[in-house]
Amino acid sequence: MTLIRHFINGAEAGETERTGPVYNPATGEAHRTVAFASVAEVEQAIAAAKAAGPAWRATSLIKRADVFFRLRQILAERTPELAAIVTSEHGKVLSDAAGEVSRGIENVEFAAGLVHLLKGEHSEQVARGVDVHSVKQPVGVVACITPFNFPVMVPLWMVASAIACGNTVVLKPSEKDPSAAIWLAKAFQEAGLPDGVLNVVNGDKVAVDTLLDSPDVKAVSFVGSTPIAKSIYERASANGKRVQALGGAKNHMVVMPDADIDGAAAAAVSAAYGSAGERCMAVSVLVAVGDVAEPLIASITEKVQNLRIGDGTDAASEMGPLVTREHRDRVEGYVTGAAAEGATVLIDGTQRIAAGERLDENGFFTGISLIDQVKPGMKLYEDEIFGPVLSVVRVGSYAEAVELINAHQFGNGTAIFTRDGGTAREFEFDIEVGMVGVNVPIPVPIGAFSFGGWKASLFGDSHIYGPESIHFYTRSKVVTTRWPDHTPAQVDLGFPSNH
Ligand code: NAD
Repeated sequence: MTLIRHFINGAEAGETERTGPVYNPATGEAHRTVAFASVAEVEQAIAAAKAAGPAWRATSLIKRADVFFRLRQILAERTPELAAIVTSEHGKVLSDAAGEVSRGIENVEFAAGLVHLLKGEHSEQVARGVDVHSVKQPVGVVACITPFNFPVMVPLWMVASAIACGNTVVLKPSEKDPSAAIWLAKAFQEAGLPDGVLNVVNGDKVAVDTLLDSPDVKAVSFVGSTPIAKSIYERASANGKRVQALGGAKNHMVVMPDADIDGAAAAAVSAAYGSAGERCMAVSVLVAVGDVAEPLIASITEKVQNLRIGDGTDAASEMGPLVTREHRDRVEGYVTGAAAEGATVLIDGTQRIAAGERLDENGFFTGISLIDQVKPGMKLYEDEIFGPVLSVVRVGSYAEAVELINAHQFGNGTAIFTRDGGTAREFEFDIEVGMVGVNVPIPVPIGAFSFGGWKASLFGDSHIYGPESIHFYTRSKVVTTRWPDHTPAQVDLGFPSNH
């Protein structure tokens, strides 16, 4: 069985004292094994990153940018190969995996513009003969800790900008689908990145805690579930590091009575069930305003009739399995418990699978679920489910919809479907959520903007990738300069004034 090891200082490394299984979610087979890094191995990766720092920082901006241009080419040409790796460990369908690679390429393209992004500022003659300029310098070794659901895109969210800014990195990907990170590290190497600039350690809490506690790690980027994000934020900040820790989500999609109902239903189906709901920007709550619930539900029900669930490698499949058996069982628990909470199960995904689609019975499949009459206070409503379960909450007015969303603990993404520009503008102004879509159900910003939620969806003050990442991965230094001129030198013990 293939053993997935670490990638330290440009080479695969790692003893195998502790390991974990990596499943093919479509068959349930543990087809690979991943090494769990020891404290010593993580320290070795940190040391390699630290040692590579000075030379990488001193590398000209143009040469640094060249790496990203070459990497872009490699990713674009070999997308199918990388997508197949993602599908084999995550389970998502191949087209979705390829989509994730393409979104990751956006981050590489952004990083390729580093010559422009790292420009400082200059003010001439702030006092007689005195100029001031600022520069952006790397922070040092950056730790990047990533979740299972986007094993290519989320590492690229972090790693591309961190490296572009002159930092060196230790990446700790999810132990559930670790192969893509090793592939990426090798692709960076092929693109000309010097050894030690990007290191990958696989593993669990032992690896993460070692990164969080190391005095040599200066910044931590984390994406994952909210409880872990919060604990990472607390531990790393207590250790004096800058931290951005993105957490979970519960994304509401508001449908106003004037919306294009058919279009909204199609958007809801795509955004709720795509990638089996395992997207942090998946729509999981449909907020039906006024009397839209009945026609909306009718249209959704019709649209899901022919959805094909199956092995992600089968081109006919539109939705694959969930990532693990435990996660599938947890997701199904919300559906089977819905009636007891007072909700109405309109489509029961657990039954649909039991009724027998042609799926491997050992795979981690569940069907799609649609649940009506969901209300605040129900676990179904409050928790992040992270599966193909769409809840419908009925409200009487726009104001009630806003109140509902603003009261929720999460604030990652949201969307409003309406034909009224005034309502859309008001929504943008009122809503306490980091990313908003107007007639767009999954408003993931393009690579030239930054991504981040509010409330329990993000701990820290910087959003990820895009312009905010340049701020996060650099320290600014401000230099005030006076060159000797022909004015006679004077002693003055007063506080320097520019007036
Ligand atoms: P997770 O929190 O279980 O794991 C994320 C990372 O943390 C992994 O590398 C994991 O090994 C590590 N980890 C897990 N437990 C740990 C512990 N006790 N101590 C230290 N490290 C630990 O998340 P996941 O299940 O891999 O990913 C799904 C979650 O990620 C969902 O909640 C989803 O909403 C969220 N997510 C958020 C965003 C966003 O941008 N906000 C994007 C993608 C995923």
